[in-house]
Amino acid sequence: MYLILFGPPGAGKGTYAKMLSEWFNIPVIATGDMLRDAIDKETPLGKKVRNYVQNGKLVPDDLMERVVAQELDSDDADDGVIFDGFPRNVNQAEMLGQLLRNKNRKIELVIELNTDDEEIIRRLSNRRVCPKCGEIYNLKNHPPQNNNMCDVCGTEIVQREDDKPETIKYRLKVYREQTAPLLQYYRNQPVEYIQLNTSGQLDDGIQRLKQKLEEIDISSI
Ligand code: AMP
Repeated sequence: MYLILFGPPGAGKGTYAKMLSEWFNIPVIATGDMLRDAIDKETPLGKKVRNYVQNGKLVPDDLMERVVAQELDSDDADDGVIFDGFPRNVNQAEMLGQLLRNKNRKIELVIELNTDDEEIIRRLSNRRVCPKCGEIYNLKNHPPQNNNMCDVCGTEIVQREDDKPETIKYRLKVYREQTAPLLQYYRNQPVEYIQLNTSGQLDDGIQRLKQKLEEIDISSI
């Protein structure tokens, strides 16, 4: 199944993507993680996208198309993919449609995550990530057990450059102006569509998602 997780920064895309990947046994293509990895490794792509990512601006579509096309060419992507952070605008959605059509595949499910702005700002400013394994923490609700060390791999956790307050506000603006119009785009497409409120406790959100997935017949898509 080819599925898009959609929603503002801080709505929980990374967390839900990981969970859905285990449930459906399909990989995640998380474009933000891939770009951060390229930046850390100082690859040619990393050097091109660094300023965009650190300032919360969208990376140009032609670069993103190349990144995603390459991932989709991998054998791992043959049975389905969870897209986290892609597409980010209507042009990218059209590119993705075309890339999948070339492989006789299509987007079957879009899950829209939403949370109110106050909670987003609270979550993002408390978010810390492990730069090595990507585990996500929240200093208030889900801190690591041992000081600032990752529970999974023991590396010191860090704050993402773009989780600083001014950049958070800018990313929300970019989301509203460029990404939110995608909602209408997918509502006009023949895809299953789930809206999930991810405010409050994660466990409650997970239950709500399970129920919504049961309501649509996943086995038929
Ligand atoms: P994320 O981890 O999804 O919040 O993405 C972090 C940053 O990576 C974004 O603010 C953009 O600078 C860049 N980025 C990630 N995905 C895309 C995309 N599909 N198109 C353009 N820029 C992206």
